[in-house]
Amino acid sequence: LGLAVSALALSLVACGSDEPSSTGGSSAGGQKIALLLPESKTTRYESLDRPLFTEALKAACADCELIYSNADQDAAKQQQQAEAALTQGAKVLVLDPVDGKAAAAVVASAKGQNVPVIAYDRFIEGANYYVSFENEAVGKLQAQTLVDTLKAAGKTSGNLAMINGSPTDPNAADFKKGAHSVLDSSGFKVAAEFDTPDWSPDKAQAWMEGQLSAIKAGLVGVYAANDGTAGGAIAALKGGGVKPLPPVTGQDSELAAIQRIVSGDQAMTIYKAVKPQAEAAAKGAVALATGGKPESTTEKSGVPSTILDPVAVTKANINDTVVKDGIYTVSDICTAS
Ligand code: BGC
Repeated sequence: LGLAVSALALSLVACGSDEPSSTGGSSAGGQKIALLLPESKTTRYESLDRPLFTEALKAACADCELIYSNADQDAAKQQQQAEAALTQGAKVLVLDPVDGKAAAAVVASAKGQNVPVIAYDRFIEGANYYVSFENEAVGKLQAQTLVDTLKAAGKTSGNLAMINGSPTDPNAADFKKGAHSVLDSSGFKVAAEFDTPDWSPDKAQAWMEGQLSAIKAGLVGVYAANDGTAGGAIAALKGGGVKPLPPVTGQDSELAAIQRIVSGDQAMTIYKAVKPQAEAAAKGAVALATGGKPESTTEKSGVPSTILDPVAVTKANINDTVVKDGIYTVSDICTAS
């Protein structure tokens, strides 16, 4: 009996069932948790979300097994990956959907097998838990920083180009809404606007190139919804001989974007601390796998949620954000690439 008890105690410790987020249920030992990410052109997924979730899952449940897949922007492929994870015995799906609406079918299929779904970063109707950032606030911070940068340079009017995210990503609509709430009453004019399919940097670049002859003369700024599309826009502006470059926004604090901010090619980005996001999702997954409830602070459309705060990053606070949090060292940033 003594042996059995200490083995049990060991397995409880290993699975972190004393975590505050794990309310009730048995040990999650040996259970499979699937993480399904949407794409890899945006660097956060493979360089932050995946490793940080892996680490957080290990901390919350030492012998849980991670099933990982990346859909490369293909919603049909993601559906197959979700089905494959269910077939492999996943007890919880942590899903960052390529297409938020289409993902409702994955939730239905998972629920049919009593498998809870965590909507990771992008909302899914009917999910069991949602972990993300205040996404309208992201759009507001981007737009406000753009307006402030323009005003600091003495500008009060002129044309803006707006490059939004993918129409299938519910976050993209929130970023856009937040940005419009600032830009529409800013005195500047949104002269041209584009929803970038798949968040593809190449498509953002091609669109910007196509707009240049029409709006180049009065163009004072570019709202780009993330760093990938910002990179595309900046390449188009440089290629089109636009000098000086107008301020361009971004999001994700990708290394290339931080380097562009240092060199003056990009005005700002958004820092979203992926670590607490990945930790909340991993703890939530272990709680759900053991019949417990994830810790939540709010709810969205009836889904218990944890919503984190985004931070605007300009040249002035790179040190106090991504460097301070250990995302990059100064030498990562200052190494010419
Ligand atoms: C994420 C952003 C990311 C974008 C493109 C959004 O849903 O919140 O961080 O840049 O998708 O993958």
